[in-house]
Amino acid sequence: MTQKVQVAVIGGGIVGCSVLYGLAKRGWTDAVLLERRQLTSGSTWHAAGNTTYFGPYAAMTRLFTSSIETYLEAEAATGQSVGFHETGSLRLATSEAELNAYSALKPLYQDLGIPYHVIDPDAVKSIYPLLSTNGIFGAAHTPTDGHVDASGATHALAKAARQLGAQIQTNTPVTAIEKAPTGWRVSLGSETLVAEHVVLAASFWTRELVAQIGLNLPLYALQHHEVITGPVSELANLDTELPTLRDPSAPANIRQERDGFLCGVYEQRPKFWATDGIPKDFKEELLPPELDRLMPELSRVIERIPAFGEAGIKTVNNGPICYTPDGLPLLGPVEGHDGLWLASGFTVGIGTGGGAGQFLAHWMTEGAPSYDLPAVHPSRFSNNLGKEDVLASIKATYERGYKLG
Ligand SMILES: Cc1cc2nc3c(=O)[nH]c(=O)nc-3n(C[C@H](O)[C@H](O)[C@H](O)COP(=O)(O)OP(=O)(O)OC[C@H]3O[C@@H](n4cnc5c(N)ncnc54)[C@H](O)[C@@H]3O)c2cc1C
Repeated sequence: MTQKVQVAVIGGGIVGCSVLYGLAKRGWTDAVLLERRQLTSGSTWHAAGNTTYFGPYAAMTRLFTSSIETYLEAEAATGQSVGFHETGSLRLATSEAELNAYSALKPLYQDLGIPYHVIDPDAVKSIYPLLSTNGIFGAAHTPTDGHVDASGATHALAKAARQLGAQIQTNTPVTAIEKAPTGWRVSLGSETLVAEHVVLAASFWTRELVAQIGLNLPLYALQHHEVITGPVSELANLDTELPTLRDPSAPANIRQERDGFLCGVYEQRPKFWATDGIPKDFKEELLPPELDRLMPELSRVIERIPAFGEAGIKTVNNGPICYTPDGLPLLGPVEGHDGLWLASGFTVGIGTGGGAGQFLAHWMTEGAPSYDLPAVHPSRFSNNLGKEDVLASIKATYERGYKLG
């Protein structure tokens, strides 16, 4: 007999689990999450877990701010630690224009009730003593954000959803979806279920899954590296953990990882992964590291934090990261396909996944979003975009790193 559910969420990364929790919290507990392998098997397991409150676009800031809130709520409900470190973040200004742009955001944070300060180089140095402030005009400081354990946060969301009555099926790849007379038929190999609503939270896999129903989504994977150093003696002498640093001129993010540094790099010669099809035998393995390509950016990080260069590199992780042409997710209904919802294309899915799940769940259960966020609406992209144009835009967006605009 075909199983019927109100909602099927496809994909058990941080975003899918957040949507499931958001739905269950709002009373939609006849919901099942279907995961190809294990929870976090996509990009989530190797993410650095940085969760800033500084949105690259003002419109996105609320997704960032509600994410930590959601993770902590799930932790309180389940006892599953999300490993939140409230280190705060610094976003360096390497030009007067950047500093002015940061200052212009003050009213936004005031409205949201989020502590936000624009500080001068001396104040930056006092918060981050290991930094060389040469060429720095100041920084935006958000003292109450930081980083979480991405796997811990995903499992807390999943456990909280289960506690409320939602279900999770792992080792369950969805092989196809198609329109049914009422809702959507979801094929799971030998079994089928019919769902009134389907949420596509399968990151770059979503593009291939929905190509079968004529959708051409601009979702591709780039290779993204994080570099972890060995121990740094100066870090051992500090009383508190350093804030996460984002340097638009590198461009890179750097945070403390125990007694070393963890650095995510936005290199100027990015490389795509699997643009002609995701290998069927891909599980959750990392990609071969290509440290040479990162050297120009890492050199700039070392100029900024000399201790980084003295530590020696311990680990290099290279993993696939999903991008859309503008770097923002596809979050909302698929126009012309009743009951089909997108929650894919997350580039900073740990930073925004918690809030995004709640945003979409509100939209689905109430029939309208809780606030306007056209920047993430899936209909902003035409269904007829050419692959080469999409890849060129993604590359330009990645190379822009932390530059505003
Ligand atoms: C090295 C690195 C560091 C990063 N650091 C950060 C960071 O510090 N902060 C941050 O915000 N972001 C970071 N990211 C990005 C972050 O990892 C992603 O944005 C986030 O994990 C996306 O979550 P997701 O749930 O959308 O996708 P995923 O975690 O990829 O989840 C998608 C899930 O769908 C499943 N799936 C796929 N196809 C099917 C199918 N047919 N049926 C069933 N299930 C299916 C997959 O198995 C997978 O579990 C980093 C990425 C990399 C590569």
